[in-house]
Amino acid sequence: MIAQIKINFDLCKDPLLCRQCLSVCPSVVFVCGPTKIWKGRETDPQEYRIFGRYLDKCSGCGDCVKVCPTGAVDLGFLPKEQLAQRYQEERIAQLKERNS
Ligand code: SF4
Ligand code: SF4
Repeated sequence: MIAQIKINFDLCKDPLLCRQCLSVCPSVVFVCGPTKIWKGRETDPQEYRIFGRYLDKCSGCGDCVKVCPTGAVDLGFLPKEQLAQRYQEERIAQLKERNS
């Protein structure tokens, strides 16, 4: 099983200040970074987001969900095969959209 982590950005308003999920995770699954890098200007702190990136490292302890003060972390698990199929379907949809 592979973790699926979705962050509700309506609830996670200031990840740079909070970072509790990132700090508590023993497997270093989360990263915090800007949504876009603007040439010639400093990134606004409001444009930073937390993401679950290294999902294959997640042990499923659930600490990120427990520690989040706003309930923004949604943690689920999918079998590897199902995940691979989902990525494939998403990729096909992206390519179709690009070619239309
Ligand atoms: S469930 Fe545990 S290991 Fe997985 S992302 Fe959350 S804190 Fe990290
Ligand atoms: S703990 Fe919750 S509110 Fe804090 S940065 Fe993580 S997702 Fe956002």
